[in-house]
Amino acid sequence: SAQVQSPDDAPLHLTGWRHVYSGKVRDLYEPDLAHYGGVHPLGDVVLVVASDRVSAYDHVLSPGIPDKGTVLTQLSLWWFEQLTDIVGNHVVSVEASSMPGDGLVPDAVAGRAMVCRRLEMFPVECVVRGYLTGSGLVEYRQSRSVCEVPLPEGLVDGSRLPEPIFTPATKAEVGEHDENVSFEVVASTIGLEDATRLRDLTLAVYARAEGIARERGIILADTKLEFGVDPATGEIILGDEVLTPDSSRFWAADRWVPGQSQPSFDKQPIRDWLVSAESGWDKDGVDAPPLLSDEVVETTRARYLDAYRRLTGAEL
Ligand code: ATP
Ligand code: MG
Repeated sequence: SAQVQSPDDAPLHLTGWRHVYSGKVRDLYEPDLAHYGGVHPLGDVVLVVASDRVSAYDHVLSPGIPDKGTVLTQLSLWWFEQLTDIVGNHVVSVEASSMPGDGLVPDAVAGRAMVCRRLEMFPVECVVRGYLTGSGLVEYRQSRSVCEVPLPEGLVDGSRLPEPIFTPATKAEVGEHDENVSFEVVASTIGLEDATRLRDLTLAVYARAEGIARERGIILADTKLEFGVDPATGEIILGDEVLTPDSSRFWAADRWVPGQSQPSFDKQPIRDWLVSAESGWDKDGVDAPPLLSDEVVETTRARYLDAYRRLTGAEL
């Protein structure tokens, strides 16, 4: 079962904000309205803080990966900018302030937090795949389809798909795995019109991002987006984080060889180490995972920083 909060990383006390939720990686705060005389200066907002927590095999691990929260936030912001002509996003401000009361990002989480419009999130993980691997590959081997999208015969781990496919998943409760579902299931949950819009937006975002990544020597194999409705305008916009190593698979284009697992710019060093004899851990057993070694932490940190550098062309 998922451990939602590692004990050495309790939510912070941030003046003017009240902690409402923690996922495996992110902490969500809402304004403490008493602090702002009843109305937050930036409107109906939430504070989304990316921690340095890292999860693998549904466990939150210790220690965290230094700078990971900042990489996730800064990379998301960069991508949001690349996508504005396709779809809006929830970012209101990333300006940091030491003045509690102005409602901006508190200094304590500067660089890894965003003040965002509070959205009504769709209960759908909008996954798009241009390549076959992971849970898509597992499904393909059983049914020659993914989320009821039929695929040609003969595909292997890492194969490029004839065209990108929308393979949504339902958002699982804490501790449960997300479940791949068909487009029809999404349509019956949120209505055909919104389901169609989410699918079209997801495919458009993938097409844009895949092209940008390719120019930089990176294959965007798949990614997951979360959309919501802005209650003020009724508009569907992007929430959450986008196109980070936590929500996407980035592969080195020059090392792509279908038929095996691909080297990727993410927490793969952690997964590899956890299942190696060196860690001594049984992922199917009942014990919590061991502490990550300094070497694994450093290698993983370097992967995240490398992904940021290659994509944006800038140092963090
Ligand atoms: P997991 O650990 O499996 O990722 P999670 O998705 O619940 O679980 P996080 O991704 O860490 O956890 O937390 C982010 C949460 O905040 C998600 O539930 C997401 O839907 C929600 N969220 C993101 N942006 C907004 C927004 N603008 N308004 C309201 N909720 C948002
Ligand atoms: Mg999430």
